[in-house]
Amino acid sequence: MLDRISFDPCGVHRQPPGHVQSVTLPGVSTVVDAGHDLRLHLSLFPESTMFALTLFGPPNAALDDRSLLFPTVRSRALLAYLALHPQQPQFRDALAELLWAGGPGAENRSNLRTALSRLRRTLKDVEQPLVRADRDTITFIGPAGIVDVLRFRSLLRACANHAHRSELDCQTCLERMQEAVALPAGPLLAGLHLAGNPLFEEWLLAEREQCQQQVLSALQTLVKIYQQRQDHAQVVTYARQQLALAPWREETHLALMRAYLLNGERHRALQHYATMTD
Ligand SMILES: [Zn+2]
Repeated sequence: MLDRISFDPCGVHRQPPGHVQSVTLPGVSTVVDAGHDLRLHLSLFPESTMFALTLFGPPNAALDDRSLLFPTVRSRALLAYLALHPQQPQFRDALAELLWAGGPGAENRSNLRTALSRLRRTLKDVEQPLVRADRDTITFIGPAGIVDVLRFRSLLRACANHAHRSELDCQTCLERMQEAVALPAGPLLAGLHLAGNPLFEEWLLAEREQCQQQVLSALQTLVKIYQQRQDHAQVVTYARQQLALAPWREETHLALMRAYLLNGERHRALQHYATMTD
């Protein structure tokens, strides 16, 4: 029996003896027989096949650090939308309506076919299959590890599901949260607009807001953790990151000034107070 498992910060989930597990890491493919006679096969993909999809900030698909060129904004939007619904088949009719709102149905479906074909051409040098399509649906099937937002969500989900007594005392979740808040390079799909597509714009706004709230919540937890540890320099780091996203949060301004004072940086606390009262 072949079970596919993904690598996540929780570690590899164990299967009963006799099961065969396959583990996928960026650039590494491993098959492990978890039975009594352990077999291990390890193959390394050539460096040139490393693919990454960045959806925080301006969306970008890169192969071996080289950005791939998308012929149209809609083929880029199609890949982003599919990747944000991994392993979930998306109906072609719904995708066509989302990306070409307002036009006749048959024309939208034809546009979608063209966009999918262009997307496949753009991704032709990527070794692992990313998109599977049948008559009715299209699905993103790429590994979560190659998409920054999926990695971000996986880290936070692992914290939420971790069996710790309190997240404020859990070193494992501290490290996960630090990695998660370092990932966003900007708002989700920054600069991506489909003019005249209210459905797509509404969806994007909601997703962007949800990501922002998740980042702010993780940063707030990090501030609390480091306040508890009396590591004032780290409180400063994460409070500043929080204020860059939500400058209206008064409690964060107070936390930042308090951390400056406790860190012996009275002048910075006063400087910050001055910027607030300008
Ligand atoms: Zn934990």
